[in-house]
Amino acid sequence: MKMMRFYQELISTNNKLAHKDSEFSLGISNWYKKNGRENLPWREDVSPYRIWISEVMLQQTQVKTVIPFFNSFISHYPNLNKLSYASEENILALWTGLGFYRRARNIYKAKEVIKANFNNEFPTKFNEIISLPGVGDSTAGAIMSIAYKESYPILDANVKRVISRYEGVVNDSSSSSIKELWTLSRKHTPLKSIFEYTQGIMDIGATICNTKTPECKICPVHRSCVSAFSTIEKKVISKKINPIKYIHFELAYTDKKVLLFKRHKKTFWESLWIPYETDNS
Ligand code: SF4
Repeated sequence: MKMMRFYQELISTNNKLAHKDSEFSLGISNWYKKNGRENLPWREDVSPYRIWISEVMLQQTQVKTVIPFFNSFISHYPNLNKLSYASEENILALWTGLGFYRRARNIYKAKEVIKANFNNEFPTKFNEIISLPGVGDSTAGAIMSIAYKESYPILDANVKRVISRYEGVVNDSSSSSIKELWTLSRKHTPLKSIFEYTQGIMDIGATICNTKTPECKICPVHRSCVSAFSTIEKKVISKKINPIKYIHFELAYTDKKVLLFKRHKKTFWESLWIPYETDNS
């Protein structure tokens, strides 16, 4: 809650500050104009609706995984009007295989909010967009800057990595680190070319300033980057061991039908359809 208040204070002053666009932001915007991944499906026909769907899908998921799911989703629901008739099950079915199903449930809840509160039109103001379920500070910032071309900062995992290396500051999950990175992100967010800058920094984080082997030689900001050619993460990377859970199913089927059961709410795979689950003890 405190973080949100801090961020909203920053946002409220964002457009009042006529700061000069930094060398960092100019380098990134100019790089995007020549090298940006303009062929990504959500960039081919930019709209708030398409940017919203893509940004939610891209939360914790890589671009190459998202592309087929995005294309399939948009072919079923090309706009808000079509989506407004979708059930939660329809949306979950299109999400199957993408994981993190809470995102799909939030898409369902958000489109209901848009229908009830915004006359089924995608909201246009930051404070309205951030009120939608599943939309956080960075997602709302991305929608504002890409779809509406308004100067708002973002801070997803790629942007955190680029900015923290550029400035030589810690990038971890502590509130002090996140607060500092938001401040720096805002400092570098330009007033001009916001569309190119936002997508450029996302692209550079995903392709050039990658986690293991940053390619500083071709990075447009290497001349002023504190960590250029010597990137050392300041955080200790501990290898997380994911627990393994074994689940047994019995499959009942005919040549045309498979018997499935819907999972209860508040359980793993909530609301998804699965075969009969046997005793897993
Ligand atoms: S110069 Fe290297 S470390 Fe710095 S932002 Fe570019 S790729 Fe990342």
